Amino acid sequence: MVTEYVPGIPIMGPYIDLDNQVFWENVKQRKLTLQRCSNCGNFYHIPRPMCPQCKSMDTLEWVPSSGRGHIYSYVTFTSDRMAYPAMKIPYVVVLVELEEGVRLTSNVVDMKPEDVYIGMPVEVVFEDLTDDLTVYKFKKREG
Ligand SMILES: [Zn+2]
Repeated sequence: MVTEYVPGIPIMGPYIDLDNQVFWENVKQRKLTLQRCSNCGNFYHIPRPMCPQCKSMDTLEWVPSSGRGHIYSYVTFTSDRMAYPAMKIPYVVVLVELEEGVRLTSNVVDMKPEDVYIGMPVEVVFEDLTDDLTVYKFKKREG
């Protein structure tokens, strides 16, 4: 099962700014990348201009992510009262903790909402929602 969208309702894309522009350009090329500080070695997401650990403004570099992790938490939207109008319910929003230790929010593909569980191993996939918008999502990973 892939997240389904409601025809006629525009899909809201990410707000692109100077900090996250590279991240989304890489997603468009089907690459998941993270910021890593070359000084302290920590990974970060959401993209930012300064390492929060060593306070450096010029040590954050973009590196490929393994794209592998596990579901840290999730919520299933079953009512349209709180759901995003462009998405058909039910759908699942997951918080995935990547092997690098950072967490990203997204949706899942190829699984029923009732099959999602905390700790499920997942890997990244990419989906072109429009000609201009590619997003990352996660599918169950075997092993
Ligand atoms: Zn640092």
